[in-house]
Amino acid sequence: MSLREYTIRNQRFLGISSGGVETSMILPTFHLAFDAGRCQNQLVEIPTVLLTHGHLDHASGIPYYVSQRCLRHLPGGTIYCPPELEDPLRRILRIWSEIEDYQMEFSLQGVDYSTFYPLFGNFSFRAVRSVHRVASNGYTIYERVRKLRKEYSHLTGPQIAEMKKTMNLFEDVQSPVVTFSGDTQIEFALENEDVRRSKILFLECTYIDEARPVERARKWGHTHLFEIIENAEAFKEVEHLVLIHFSPRYSKDRILDTLRKQMPEDLYRKTTAFV
Ligand SMILES: [Zn+2]
Ligand SMILES: [Zn+2]
Repeated sequence: MSLREYTIRNQRFLGISSGGVETSMILPTFHLAFDAGRCQNQLVEIPTVLLTHGHLDHASGIPYYVSQRCLRHLPGGTIYCPPELEDPLRRILRIWSEIEDYQMEFSLQGVDYSTFYPLFGNFSFRAVRSVHRVASNGYTIYERVRKLRKEYSHLTGPQIAEMKKTMNLFEDVQSPVVTFSGDTQIEFALENEDVRRSKILFLECTYIDEARPVERARKWGHTHLFEIIENAEAFKEVEHLVLIHFSPRYSKDRILDTLRKQMPEDLYRKTTAFV
């Protein structure tokens, strides 16, 4: 399998996502990737990886990623992960350093969930706890924007122009631009407002039919298409929904056909299936 490229709302995404096989999504504009998958070649150039959890289809590429950056004389990669994963991952990387007989440079950090980590300009990211079988995060990229304070929203253009000469009518707000869910039950979206307000939302959708019912998806910490359909209203503020992590048991045609036939029209129109 190789990486697929999509452009959504002028944003370039380069990725791969197949449930239980490999998931990694590179955002070249932000110089970061969500998850490492099995470390595709293009990932090595990317300085920052936001790791959602330790399952091997998302994280097995980490030692290779770290090692390849050293080999190519690139600065040590920076990896953010759920706090519980920091110590075991550090141990794995230490053992691999021992195997390679080479001191690998890298920065590994368990996230603090209240921190906005700066990226560049007005952009930052924050981790959000997700709901999976192991410790897991989703991540939201934010853009800080100036907005008219709510109490002045009734003013006309000329009134604003006049009043802003003497008063501060504006405030800075963090606007969610992209969210990546990693593997999670649907509660990740339902219980986090910023996830549902993200312009682009990457949401896992591992199962799509009765043969693998909702209960089974939930038991394994995954989201089922039926739950997304049932909660379609929750995604009304999302401008673009990208479904990822489909089980490899479904063919591309089967997935596209099922989405077209079963999703409500409004939601279907703004959905891309990462297949
Ligand atoms: Zn997975
Ligand atoms: Zn998983």
